[in-house]
Amino acid sequence: MKKAVFPGSFDPITLGHVDIINRAIPLFDEIVIAIGVNADKRYMFTLEERIEFIKKTYAHEPKISIQSYSGLTVDYCKSIDSSFILRGLRNPADFEFEKAIAITNRKLSGIETVFLLTSAETSFISSSIVRDILKNKGDASILIPKGIL
Ligand code: ADP
Repeated sequence: MKKAVFPGSFDPITLGHVDIINRAIPLFDEIVIAIGVNADKRYMFTLEERIEFIKKTYAHEPKISIQSYSGLTVDYCKSIDSSFILRGLRNPADFEFEKAIAITNRKLSGIETVFLLTSAETSFISSSIVRDILKNKGDASILIPKGIL
């Protein structure tokens, strides 16, 4: 059984994340969307809110589950018996950053990172842009899944 972990902050989930997840569904038997909890990071939405947004988006998709974790992503993957990490790539900066992490993770654990290239329609979307719009009372509805807020 092919189980992948899609780790991230999802603060909040965007249509960029949704694009990657939807395109990964045919590739895996199960995808665990895993919200990494980092005590040093300040989030706009609470962990419960971020989980709720993802649940609303994927309520009817049996291959998707939502969890949170702390510590190393590879340790979390091993604890749930997952051999793959799923990540999205938007630009060269993402690539350089992700490359070092993926190589390190493979050396540490043998876990492979599977990258999907962003779609042209969603390549410009990031959670930080969504947060900026929301902080300034703008309308972010074209960047996030319908009805999450
Ligand atoms: P992190 O803090 O781990 O980067 P994010 O929630 O920002 O958490 O992102 C999680 C994953 O989703 C990352 O692999 C990121 O590259 C990917 N991602 C985010 N936005 C997009 C997008 N618009 N297109 C493709 N991948 C994306």
